[in-house]
Amino acid sequence: MRTVRNCDVTNKKVLVRVDFNVPIEGGTVTDNTRIRASVPTLEYLLERGARLACISHLGRPKGKVVDAYRMDPVALELSRLLNRKVVKLDDCVGDAVKEAVTFAGPGTVLLLENVRFHPGEEKNDPAFAAELARGFDLFVNDAFGAAHRAHASTEGVTHYLPSYAGFLLEKEVSVLSELLNAPRRPFAAIIGGAKVSDKIEVITNLLQRVDLMLLGGGMANTFLMAKGIDVGRSLAEPDKVGLAREILARHSQVVLPVDCVVAPSLDADKEARVVAAHQVPPEFMILDIGPETVKMFADRLRRAGTVFWNGPMGVFEKDAFAMGTYGVAQAVAGLEARTVVGGGDSIAALQQSGLSDRIWHISTGGGASLEFLEGKVLPGIARLEDEQS
Ligand code: ADP
Ligand code: MG
Repeated sequence: MRTVRNCDVTNKKVLVRVDFNVPIEGGTVTDNTRIRASVPTLEYLLERGARLACISHLGRPKGKVVDAYRMDPVALELSRLLNRKVVKLDDCVGDAVKEAVTFAGPGTVLLLENVRFHPGEEKNDPAFAAELARGFDLFVNDAFGAAHRAHASTEGVTHYLPSYAGFLLEKEVSVLSELLNAPRRPFAAIIGGAKVSDKIEVITNLLQRVDLMLLGGGMANTFLMAKGIDVGRSLAEPDKVGLAREILARHSQVVLPVDCVVAPSLDADKEARVVAAHQVPPEFMILDIGPETVKMFADRLRRAGTVFWNGPMGVFEKDAFAMGTYGVAQAVAGLEARTVVGGGDSIAALQQSGLSDRIWHISTGGGASLEFLEGKVLPGIARLEDEQS
């Protein structure tokens, strides 16, 4: 992959696609993780005398100007993090942008307006992509979280400018490629979350590569059903039972929970109790993995060289059903292995557990990380690998 290290950026006008899709409340950024993640690339470019214009989407304005999704709060936060003046513009295309880029001196940071204010962005309209590119010398993509979408600011623009990966995107691709192509063994995956149907492609692709797959969360219920276990009123997908049965027959490295935390409903925390996985009372639902399962999973992980984890082990949003997820987080955090955690809810759960610092790599990509691990070619990245046309 071509990265910023491979190009001379001095005095160049560089359009940088970042993922500044951050939560904002009352005009302030409430979680600046994504902005911080882009700082190394931006500083690298600034130190080498590039003239930067950053561009991102924010929320879902659906091709129209929506004041609540303007980038102004992001500009304040970016300026604070870079300790520099950031000039925020009110559009991302047009002559005013091209002029600002031309007259801005080296070391200046421009932040363009939300690219999704234009319908051409999500349509990947070539004319809009060309207009984004106009006036710039280079394109740098550091928005891994948007790389699975072929939009004008991720894919389209690469047809009009020499294009390079930023450090964040490079790191994500190198870690996730290592998982797929050259993992340290044994390689273990822990997959949880709500539904089998959300994860089936990741599961099937990873099953070709992992030595061990631990299943938890709501999706394990469908696999328990496939073993003939009655899961009561648990979340499950009866139409996926056949598929689950096939997977279990073919892949002996799949491990299911042996006990679970059950309750009559999500709100009946007081009636929560631990039962063996094959003894779920008919009026109850499985809402977490049980302590025996946590112990068994921790034990199985002990020798791992690589661990990938996606999907909470239970309804971690409620304290009564969070212990399984925290227990697995504890086990993963204690390993010497290359540990990688991905997925929006998984990262939130990890943060709640206070163990994020002890994970080797937290993949911020969400949908992009999962699509990468499904074995798909991400359009934003493919264009940084090819010889460019
Ligand atoms: P990620 O965002 O990390 O990819 P998912 O979105 O796939 O994870 O899954 C997270 C959701 O799964 C959480 O909201 C959690 O409450 C839910 N979940 C986990 N276990 C269960 C369960 N046993 N029953 C119902 N929902 C569950
Ligand atoms: Mg999720």
